Amino acid sequence: MAQTFVDRIVEQLSTSLRARLGTLVSELERDARARIGNGVRGGRPGRKRRKLDMRCRVAGCRRMSRGPRFGFICDEHRKKLSKREQAAAREAWNAKAA
Ligand SMILES: [Zn+2]
Repeated sequence: MAQTFVDRIVEQLSTSLRARLGTLVSELERDARARIGNGVRGGRPGRKRRKLDMRCRVAGCRRMSRGPRFGFICDEHRKKLSKREQAAAREAWNAKAA
């Protein structure tokens, strides 16, 4: 079976993605901290990781997405919606979350 081949690709993808995400997140954190300055939010130095919101970004959808690698869109909507519609759903969700 082509299983091992696929496994290898998935492995490589997730490794590089994790590395890239890690850099991005730490950059964002640094940036946010610099902007907030000295604990406007009563911040304690302890690292509090915000939990990833895994819910599907499509309005009204209650399913869980598979996370950032899948654009936070659930399987059902990834099948149903075009890339553009998925991006629009993400944008709307971000706007609401902000
Ligand atoms: Zn959905």
